[in-house]
Amino acid sequence: MAEEKPNHRVRPLIAADEIARRVDELAAQIDRDYAASESLVVIGVLKGSVFFFTDLVRRLSIPVRIDFFQTSSYGTGTTAGEVRIKRDIDLSVRGRDVLLVEDIVDTGWTLKTILDLFRFRGAASVKLCALLDKHEAREVEVPIAYCGFRIGKDFVVGYGLDYDERHRNLPYVGVVEFTEDEA
Ligand code: 5GP
Repeated sequence: MAEEKPNHRVRPLIAADEIARRVDELAAQIDRDYAASESLVVIGVLKGSVFFFTDLVRRLSIPVRIDFFQTSSYGTGTTAGEVRIKRDIDLSVRGRDVLLVEDIVDTGWTLKTILDLFRFRGAASVKLCALLDKHEAREVEVPIAYCGFRIGKDFVVGYGLDYDERHRNLPYVGVVEFTEDEA
């Protein structure tokens, strides 16, 4: 099958070594904050957080359990009540500390829904670690306990994030710039 001509390019925004340094800092902070916890479950939200999750968890020295959760939203964009569970976690979170690891918080609806769900299931505590925070796009407030970088409203890809399932394997985060004239 012929490869489609790309109608966009990716402008680098956050370099791989910058990401690695920030992941180190976040892991050190999480190690300190959960030093007394004997029940931490780190939950990666698939698929976008996959590289961030694996890099972060490998840098932790505290004992952790890991699990994965996947959502999808109906239609385009995310609004209240539209978040659907595609893959649930295997572990019980009852009485345990939960740290959710997400790629990006945009409107906030996805994360608000997941955080509320784990609280409802009886987690002892639920906190959020997000690589990217698109703060200006927020529609519902979600506290980000551990935030990698604050960015603008541009659509970004790389380091796990996709555009139509492409670019997840880029080692850096970049902004998608559309070049319709070239299509
Ligand atoms: P929210 O519910 O906060 O609006 O949306 C969160 C989800 O939307 C993220 O987990 C991600 O899948 C997707 N998303 C939001 N902004 C971007 C972006 O700039 N790039 C990519 N690749 N996905 C995004």
